[in-house]
Amino acid sequence: MTKPVLAYIGLGAMGGRICANMTRKHDGEMHVFDQNTTSVDAAVAAGAKAAASLKDIAELADIIFLCLPGGKEVEAVILGEDGLLQHGRAGQTIVDMSTCPVGIARKAASALAEAGINLADAPVARTLAAAETGSLSIMVGGEESIYQRILPYLQFAGSDITHCGGVGTGQAVKIINNMLLIQQVVAVAQAFTMGERAGLDPKLLAETLSMGSGDSFALRNHGMKAMLADNFPINQFGTDYAIKDISYALDLAADMNVSVPAAELAREMLSRTSEAGHGAEYFPVLYKMIKDA
Ligand code: NAD
Repeated sequence: MTKPVLAYIGLGAMGGRICANMTRKHDGEMHVFDQNTTSVDAAVAAGAKAAASLKDIAELADIIFLCLPGGKEVEAVILGEDGLLQHGRAGQTIVDMSTCPVGIARKAASALAEAGINLADAPVARTLAAAETGSLSIMVGGEESIYQRILPYLQFAGSDITHCGGVGTGQAVKIINNMLLIQQVVAVAQAFTMGERAGLDPKLLAETLSMGSGDSFALRNHGMKAMLADNFPINQFGTDYAIKDISYALDLAADMNVSVPAAELAREMLSRTSEAGHGAEYFPVLYKMIKDA
């Protein structure tokens, strides 16, 4: 059987690393496109072929992966003028690995279906290091046959792949995941600030909490490795990306008629952090807003 031709659009912090793994492990062609030519050059150096436009990608590839900033870009690339729908053909599959609203995944899927093109949403969780080593958690929404078709390629990028249900369900799980995480990061920042003002050694507090029922992934990673180490790099899930995801969560909660005041507080903390000039820094930088208030 001939191997499908793959393509990757969106070669940023996550997409660049995922694409590098897919290019290395796929026994076939990988075509790439990004607005940023430096990222394209890096992918080409890793063995991919540069495409000049979305039209080229749509004409060349059988399975097209996206890892774009969010819903606006996904909508433009799939449904926009000169986009994938306009130039695609029946039988193709588009796999959106961006974190994107459920409604946009479903809208794009139904528009593509009329042209015989399938869409699966496959957003990713975990860190840049996990993207680098191909050990992401990937949450997939789409028909079973499409899930089976794309699974071998997702396994190039992830170690835990979950089929969540129909189109949009991968995005729903991812958005709920990020809502939980961001709320916990705000709670950790508040706990550290209280501890500091109560005269506790921050390291002792964090280590003791991590041995008790106050332990969490947010405490050990975002709290200990970022907040206590004053380590908020750029290009690593910055505050503005966290605002995007918590906003998707608030929209989903409103659509489902669920009241989520802790998520509203988290968005407010993130907005203040961005307005103070920390929009591009790793989002646990919100600790500075809470500590200095
Ligand atoms: P990024 O900003 O580093 O990369 C986005 C890339 O998309 C850039 O290279 C940009 O040039 C390209 N792009 C934007 N619009 C485009 C268009 N119209 N056509 C072609 N290319 C376009 O973002 P990232 O950190 O790689 O995140 C990508 C997605 O993954 C986001 O939805 C994010 O929420 C999600 N995510 C990120 C992380 C993380 O730690 N960075 C973790 C999990 C999920």
